[in-house]
Amino acid sequence: MPDFDYDLFVIGAGSGGTRAARVAAAHGAKVAVAEEYRVGGTCVIRGCVPKKLLVYGAHFAEDLKDARRFGWMVPEDLQFDWQCLRENVMAEVDRINQAYTNTLKTNGAEIIEQRTTVSGPNEVTLADGTKKTAKTILVAVGAHPQIPHCEGHEHGITSNEAFNLDGIPKRILIAGAGYIANEFAGIFHQFGAHVILMNRTKDILRGYDLAIRDRLLQISMMKGLEFRFDATFEKIVKLDDGCLEVHMSGHDPAVVDLVMFATGRIPNTKGLGLESAGVEMTERGAIKVDDDNRSTCPSIYAVGDVTDRIQLTPIAIREGQAFADNLFGKGGGKVDYACIPSAVFSHPPLAGVGLTESQARQKFGSVRVYSSDFRPMKNVLAGRDERALYKMVCDGETDRVLGIHMIGPDVPEIIQAAAVAVKAGLTKTQFDATVALHPTMAEELVLLK
Ligand code: NDP
Repeated sequence: MPDFDYDLFVIGAGSGGTRAARVAAAHGAKVAVAEEYRVGGTCVIRGCVPKKLLVYGAHFAEDLKDARRFGWMVPEDLQFDWQCLRENVMAEVDRINQAYTNTLKTNGAEIIEQRTTVSGPNEVTLADGTKKTAKTILVAVGAHPQIPHCEGHEHGITSNEAFNLDGIPKRILIAGAGYIANEFAGIFHQFGAHVILMNRTKDILRGYDLAIRDRLLQISMMKGLEFRFDATFEKIVKLDDGCLEVHMSGHDPAVVDLVMFATGRIPNTKGLGLESAGVEMTERGAIKVDDDNRSTCPSIYAVGDVTDRIQLTPIAIREGQAFADNLFGKGGGKVDYACIPSAVFSHPPLAGVGLTESQARQKFGSVRVYSSDFRPMKNVLAGRDERALYKMVCDGETDRVLGIHMIGPDVPEIIQAAAVAVKAGLTKTQFDATVALHPTMAEELVLLK
């Protein structure tokens, strides 16, 4: 039996790596976790957490306007202080980063603040050249933004940099029409920027229910966001005055102050030395793993965005937990990828769980769809012409709810609870048997016709 420095060496202290390291250490394993930047990873440092705080900050733009209709004296010349919000958000990120660090330490995991690469099936090399051995290596290094290559692409930023801007640009072009693009489009628009959203296809938020996506597009256009579809970059030219002139196929050039790429994320495997251990990867550089998160090298595992399964924080956390329980605990850890709720924190937000209408029709043939298209009462009093849309997709034979899809105020909060019922396989009749909680928006879910 060879003697290793550690039972487990985790590379990457993001959501998946931190959970795995902490749980394995709590199970009694000797654990080290290496992080080249900051404990917390994308979600905590430059993703979900600071983004959500910006979404809250951005929403005040509408809330303060609406407040006048509710009797509040809100001055006409509302001022917004970006630096104030940015500093407060960064302070909160620092706090959570510290909390994550403390949790790892309290559970007995050693934190190594260095970039680390794999140099063999049981060996890693730290940036200072030190080599460490481990019985098991877990790669949880996440992903980074993909930037479409065109002349001048270096003038653009990604969401990584968006949190640290000196100021809010007057005009911004956001490339992509997925999660990050729509969330930041809402944020920048609320902060007063003119937003152009440009995508290579005609689709926004592919994967979400069509009617819900259409509603977001409609509301976004009504708010003044500009969309450029079927457009690919030709070049980005930096003008003498510092502005950026974006040339794209099928459209006139756009002159903006900032370009932000939100065109997907690719796994961080380049230069990680995985080939030295025989770890196979996909064309996109994602680590191939089996159901137990094990790579093609038996002593090396991977969880989270680096595996290119579902790029969501709670999934990385579950994968990290299952991995640690299986290897160092009682076992039995498995991630169930069915019925994962998800949300886009756009303005307004949208959310969904289960099958979309078109997925359900393909899979089940006989499908019943119930919907409610309504103006939330708060919007009515505020004079805000924004309608919410809730959709329930049911199996035509069994009445079972196959999916719920929503757009409107607070729908991410509502879908989390509704997802329990969808996951449990409840029927429309069982939803209907639940008494409505009045007056709420969520009551529409038990009143659908
Ligand atoms: P998405 O996959 O959501 O969207 C990518 C967008 O970029 C799509 O509009 C796509 O176009 C376009 N695109 C993809 N590749 C290219 C390319 N080579 N050139 C030009 N355009 C391209 O990715 P995001 O970057 O928005 O987010 C990354 C991941 O992070 C998401 O998949 C999500 O899992 C996660 N995330 C989750 C959030 C949440 O849960 N609320 C928030 C933010 C991120 P098309 O679809 O038309 O082909």
